Amino acid sequence: MNDKKTMEQIISYAKRRGFVFQGSEIYGGMAGVYDFGPYGVELLNNIKKSWWRANVQLRSDYYGLDSAMFKHPQVWEASGHTSGFSDPMSECKSCNTRLRVDKALEKVGVAADEKMSEDEINKLFDDNKSKIKCTKCGNSDFTPAKAFNLLVKSNLGDFTNKGESPVYLPGEACQGIYLNFKNVVDSMHPKIPFGIAQINKAFRNEISPRNFLFRTREFEQADTQYFVRPEENKEAFEKIKEDRWSWYVNDLGINPENMRWKQHDNLVFYAKDAWDIEYNYPTYGFDEVEGIHDRSDYDLSVHSKASGVDLSYVDQVAGEKYIPWILETSMGLGRIFLAILSDAYTVEEMDGAERTVLKLSPELAPVKVAVLPLLKNKPELVEKAKEVFTMLNKVMVSEYAETGTVGKRYRKQDEIGTPHCVTIDFDTLEDDTVTLRDRDSGEQKRVKIAELLNGLA
Ligand code: ATP
Repeated sequence: MNDKKTMEQIISYAKRRGFVFQGSEIYGGMAGVYDFGPYGVELLNNIKKSWWRANVQLRSDYYGLDSAMFKHPQVWEASGHTSGFSDPMSECKSCNTRLRVDKALEKVGVAADEKMSEDEINKLFDDNKSKIKCTKCGNSDFTPAKAFNLLVKSNLGDFTNKGESPVYLPGEACQGIYLNFKNVVDSMHPKIPFGIAQINKAFRNEISPRNFLFRTREFEQADTQYFVRPEENKEAFEKIKEDRWSWYVNDLGINPENMRWKQHDNLVFYAKDAWDIEYNYPTYGFDEVEGIHDRSDYDLSVHSKASGVDLSYVDQVAGEKYIPWILETSMGLGRIFLAILSDAYTVEEMDGAERTVLKLSPELAPVKVAVLPLLKNKPELVEKAKEVFTMLNKVMVSEYAETGTVGKRYRKQDEIGTPHCVTIDFDTLEDDTVTLRDRDSGEQKRVKIAELLNGLA
């Protein structure tokens, strides 16, 4: 469980070890924007690879996609984002700090329904204001809540500099899938049920970005949309839920005790069912990593209507034509990255000393093996170590490290989650064997260089 870890530890560790940096840090940083450092980008790519493998490459009924981020402005009109993609915002009257009202109400145990009007939200807000404190100055005097639209605008193609007819940055990744539904059907001729999957960026003008990678203004989403016959949603929905849970536990190796399901009580008008997978983040507690939604025929219907292009599926064999229903999964890459770091981050005792170790599954580890010459001032050891490093690096991401004592180098590799270290010593020069050390147990054994790859597999 994560009770003994704090998010502060994870944040400072992530920076110290080159995983995550504040965006534009040398200029004072940008709220809700983060950069992934050298080990962070490796971990992020490994998460994406695992997701893509499970959701596209190992599935005969799913197709991959990478749609452009810029989309026709009408897309966001039709999807309802220009009018309805908003959060209720208020400001502290003392210090002008902005507050996202639905989340503030949630914190004091009052659920604000997504469907509520501004007046209804304000009634709830007024009734509970005394319990809500400004995060900056602690006062409880706020302006009335107003709907604040989260879409981020660009001036792509606008040479007037007037900001009229903005082209939006994507507020969510899934719209690219709806736009390409017909293209995939016409080019790949899939039989229903089938899915389309993609990983893409999303941008939201979050009122109060917070909690490190949990709520940012720029993030990536890994989405699948599964197209089924109308009303044939229930069984497929349950199967998707099972598959997603299994990916977290069996593919990523996340401790299931740190995960739970949450069903939505208040559904938007077109939705038939909605569940979140929540992770128990250190300090923050349980919160959403992924949403799994039964969206009925809403998305393809609105885009059919607005574009004038019929997005029905034609089943030649059954002689049927219909708008498919959609079962969606949408996971934030930043949130799963943070869950994985939190789950793997471990401070423990080994050989009478405290060590920090990132107990990542080998598939996720940024570096798979580190090669260390026992001493850096012995050219014959260095040469041999570089030879072994070059051999290993051809097949897996490897790191060569020669500075500091071997013990210190082991500790550094433990901290970034490297499953194995290979040490080259004077015996290596005699008999071509090396010491192979296991990250989790600290166990060391002698292995022939020729057999090293088998030992690391
Ligand atoms: P929340 O209620 O936390 O604002 P949401 O329900 O609006 O999230 P969705 O629109 O369903 O989120 O987006 C799908 C997924 O995208 C979420 O489960 C989450 O992992 C991720 N996500 C959404 N907003 C953000 C954000 N601001 N920063 C990072 N990830 C996000």
